[in-house]
Amino acid sequence: MPSPEAPASGACIFCEIAAHRAPSYTLYEDAETIAFLDLFPFTRGHFLVIPKRHGERLTDLPEGDQNALLRTIDRMCRRVGRLAPDYNLALNAGVAAGQIVFHVHFHIIPRYGESNPFHPRQRTAIEEQDARAVVAELAPP
Ligand code: AMP
Ligand code: ZN
Repeated sequence: MPSPEAPASGACIFCEIAAHRAPSYTLYEDAETIAFLDLFPFTRGHFLVIPKRHGERLTDLPEGDQNALLRTIDRMCRRVGRLAPDYNLALNAGVAAGQIVFHVHFHIIPRYGESNPFHPRQRTAIEEQDARAVVAELAPP
């Protein structure tokens, strides 16, 4: 069942799928998580793994749901090898990252040798000054 924090009934399509009120091509399901095919796949077999509890981002979820999600991702990463040995595991957090469904989900995208949408055409090497600044900005806590 979706959590009490979920948007008003019907507002979140992934809550609807988790509650079996909306259809999905389900690949796996347990008490905390569900995996189903993406309706607009990047590649054949592209699917999503979601927690049943509603949260916009991974960091909105209680630790138990995060752990359950990782267990299902591990299970499905093993299974995706039946389609292709290589795959992308991706999470878009926020509009600038391309998130369009605001219920946390991981994409698992089998790769068959086509160009990689997560690989920008041009990348420049990191500069030491910026590298040191970023390390400082991301230092604990
Ligand atoms: P994101 O950009 O990370 O928010 O990706 C959302 C993904 O959900 C997209 O790849 C959509 O194709 C997919 N999607 C949206 N609605 C559905 C649905 N009802 N069933 C399956 N996949 C969906
Ligand atoms: Zn939801």
